[in-house]
Amino acid sequence: MEISIIGGGPIGLIAARALLEDGNQVRLFDPSISKPKMSLALAESTLRLLESIGVELGAGQDLTEILVNEKGLPGSILLHASECGYPRFGRVVCSQALEEAVSLHVSKSVETVSVETIHARSAQANPRIRLATGEEVTPDLVILADGGRSHLTDSLGLEAQYRPFGRSAILGRLRVGTPCLGRAYERFIGTGPLALLPVENDVYGFVWSLNPDHAERLQQSTSDLIEALKDAIPEELGSIEIASDPVVIPLVERWIDQPYRPGIVLIGNGAQTIHPVAGQGLNLALRGVMQLTAELKKSDPDTAVRTAFANWKPNRDKTRLASSSLEALFDRDVFPRKILTSLGMAVADQSPWLKTKIAEAGMGVVS
Ligand SMILES: Cc1cc2nc3c(=O)[nH]c(=O)nc-3n(C[C@H](O)[C@H](O)[C@H](O)COP(=O)(O)OP(=O)(O)OC[C@H]3O[C@@H](n4cnc5c(N)ncnc54)[C@H](O)[C@@H]3O)c2cc1C
Repeated sequence: MEISIIGGGPIGLIAARALLEDGNQVRLFDPSISKPKMSLALAESTLRLLESIGVELGAGQDLTEILVNEKGLPGSILLHASECGYPRFGRVVCSQALEEAVSLHVSKSVETVSVETIHARSAQANPRIRLATGEEVTPDLVILADGGRSHLTDSLGLEAQYRPFGRSAILGRLRVGTPCLGRAYERFIGTGPLALLPVENDVYGFVWSLNPDHAERLQQSTSDLIEALKDAIPEELGSIEIASDPVVIPLVERWIDQPYRPGIVLIGNGAQTIHPVAGQGLNLALRGVMQLTAELKKSDPDTAVRTAFANWKPNRDKTRLASSSLEALFDRDVFPRKILTSLGMAVADQSPWLKTKIAEAGMGVVS
C-alpha cells in the first residue's frame, strides 16, 4: 500500500516505522528539523510496540516505582513494579532521544517539506495532497499526524471539540542532590498536580499544572521557580538546580469525534490532546497506531481505519477522562478535600489488587 504521513513528531515517525516494517511504501513529510525537548514516560505497551518494530531505546531510565501523595499529609500510594508482578512500569526518555532512535530506521522516507492542501478520496480518485514544492501525491492512504498544528484538519471539515482547563503547565528539567533511582512522583500540591520523571541519573523532568499567571511568573524568575519547586518536591530528593529553561503551555483537552475521512485518518495530538499530568498522550496515541497497522494488514484502507478507530475509541475515552479527572480531583487547595484524598490514598496503599490495577492501566497493559 502507498501511504503518505503528514508530520514527523514521535507519532508520525513511529507510525512510519511500523508501516515500513509491514512492507508498505511510505513517504513522510515534515518541514521542521528542530523539535522541542520533553521528558516522556513510555508505558510498557509503547515499549513493546517499539521493540516489535526494531527500535532500541538505550537512553532514559526504567520506571520501577511511582509514589503518589499529597504534600504535607501522610497518606500516599507507593507502587512497586516488582510487587505488581512486572520488572518495570515503563521507561522515561527524552523526546529527542526517542525521535532519534526511530529516525535511524525511517530517514530514507522523510522529506523536509510542508503539506499545503489535502483532499479526501472521491469515487474516481485516491486522496490527494499538495506539497509546498508544488508536487501532488495521490497515495492509497493519508495519515495526518500534524499535532493539530496546521490548517489541514479544518480544511477537511473536521471540527475539534475543546475543553480548556484554565491552567497552564510549566515544564522543564531539574537536577537533584539525592536521586531515587527509577522512582517517579505524582504529587498534589494544592496549587495543582506536579509530576516528576527520572530521565537521567540525577535529572528529573517536571510537569506542574498551575494557574496560568503563576506559571508565567515562575517561568520569568529562576529564583522564584527554584523556591517554589523546593517547597513542592519531596524532601528525599535533596537539593535542586534547574537543568533546562522552563517552558509554559496552556492546558486544553481537544479531540475529534470521528477523526477520519475517505482515504484519510488523523492520529496523535491532531486527533486528541489530553491533560499531560498522567503522561498518557503518546502512549494512548500509539495504542491507536497499533490498532491501525494491524487492521491495514487485513482490509482496505477505509475499512481498516473505521475498524481500528472503533476498537480503540473506548480506550481513548477512558484515558481522556482519567487524565482530566486527576486535574479536577486535586486542583483545589481545600483542607477537607485534601484530607479525603489523603485518606483514600492510605486505604488504596493497603490493597495490592488495586495497586496492580492502577499500575496496569498506566502501563497500557489493560485499560
Ligand atoms: C508537558 C507534556 C508532557 C507530556 N508527557 C507525556 C508523557 O510522559 N507520556 C506520554 O505518553 N505523552 C506525554 N505527552 C504527550 C505527548 O507529548 C504527545 O502525545 C506527543 O508529543 C504528540 O506527538 P505528535 O507526533 O502527535 O505531534 P507533534 O509532536 O506535535 O508533531 C507534529 C508534527 O507535524 C508537523 N507538521 C505540522 N503541520 C505540518 C504540515 N502542514 N506539513 C507537514 N508537517 C507538519 C510539525 O512540524 C510537527 O513535527 C506530554 C505532553 C505534554 C504537553
